[in-house]
Amino acid sequence: MDGSVKGDPIEELKELQITSLDDDDDEEREQEMVTDEYEDDDDDEEDEEEQEPVTLGFIEKPKNSWSLLRHLFPSKAGGSPAWLDPINIPSGRSCLCDMCGEPLHFVLQVYAPIVEKESAFHRTLFLFMCPSMACLLRDQHEQWKRPPEKTSRSVKVFRCQLPHSNPFYSSEAPKCDGTDKPSGPGVSLCNWCGTWKGDKVCSSCRKAHYCSQKHQVVHWRSGHKIECQQLNLFSPSFDSNHGNGETTSAQRQKVASNSLWPEYEMINEDESEYDTEMSEYNGQTNALVSKTRVDDTMKSLLSTFEGDSDRKSWATFQERIAKAPDQVLRYCRSASAKGLWPMSGGRPSKADIPKCSYCSGPRCFEFQILPQLLYYFGVKNDVDSLDWATIVVYTCEASCEASVGYKEEFVWVQHSSQSVNVP
Ligand SMILES: [Zn+2]
Ligand SMILES: [Zn+2]
Ligand SMILES: [Zn+2]
Ligand SMILES: [Zn+2]
Repeated sequence: MDGSVKGDPIEELKELQITSLDDDDDEEREQEMVTDEYEDDDDDEEDEEEQEPVTLGFIEKPKNSWSLLRHLFPSKAGGSPAWLDPINIPSGRSCLCDMCGEPLHFVLQVYAPIVEKESAFHRTLFLFMCPSMACLLRDQHEQWKRPPEKTSRSVKVFRCQLPHSNPFYSSEAPKCDGTDKPSGPGVSLCNWCGTWKGDKVCSSCRKAHYCSQKHQVVHWRSGHKIECQQLNLFSPSFDSNHGNGETTSAQRQKVASNSLWPEYEMINEDESEYDTEMSEYNGQTNALVSKTRVDDTMKSLLSTFEGDSDRKSWATFQERIAKAPDQVLRYCRSASAKGLWPMSGGRPSKADIPKCSYCSGPRCFEFQILPQLLYYFGVKNDVDSLDWATIVVYTCEASCEASVGYKEEFVWVQHSSQSVNVP
């Protein structure tokens, strides 16, 4: 994957086609019911949207080789995760798509410490998903299930937090000049995906680590078969803990897989800064060009809408996004934040967001990601390609403690109706 940005994000938003929902299936009725439930909320929702300050996330190619290492507490998209707690990383079923059983792909991580909470001095959220659209289509039925019903997900999010003083990082702030090092090593990661724990070892060389048999097989076929013999031949006394899986050094582990999404650094900016820019640019030639294009995109989309609620939702969404059309993430950790929904259907009601499974407290909106990310990831626009309208992450409002290193939080995917129509 070459990672090149595919076209202009505004232009690409056209892909979020909303076609008439003429399939009279259960799915739709379910979504319409929820739309009705929402009708009453509509007014306060708009008020709150205006009040809550939102931080926007933009992605760009990393400036240097070390800026995305875990001891620099990065926010990043694509590639492999920079695990905050490098030892107690999720394992077992947590790493797998519950639909197809394949290891999940890393989507992005957001470094979001909570200043007033000592135990969350460092805090990062990690989002994973299965790249299969077939799995995501099955996933959408699962997210409507309410506890204690068991859900099978193809999209998962984990929260990890550490106090100021912890075994993995110095309590001094990193210098960010390329000389920083983590204080402690991490577990061996899979040599293929670089994502999950590599607790299985190649039985021949005993040096290559894997998260799953599947990744061992693909690595074998794509070159380890040869590399393995060389490892056996030239370094019989090679210490298996050295330079393979363990992330002791300040260097990043080499990842063999070529199917990871391309890696980007995430940069944050306050949305309010774009309010000013918009008004300054209004009337200027270059701004007018993009404004006209946004209007055209909207007009063509609006003509395909059936209902007023979708029209209104899309208009609000577009108006906000148009301030900074390259944004891939909107962040606002607040009990009253609700996210910006491209469509009125397929949104969760309050009751659809399960309570925190660790403290039983409420969960609140924390961030959402936008379909622009798919273009940066080079995801094609075929019928069976991965596609979504928005992905919203809800986390424990108290950001509670639990003995587990990575706490699974709740993620909601709003599908574009285009994909809903795929049988
Ligand atoms: Zn899957
Ligand atoms: Zn793996
Ligand atoms: Zn081997
Ligand atoms: Zn909790």
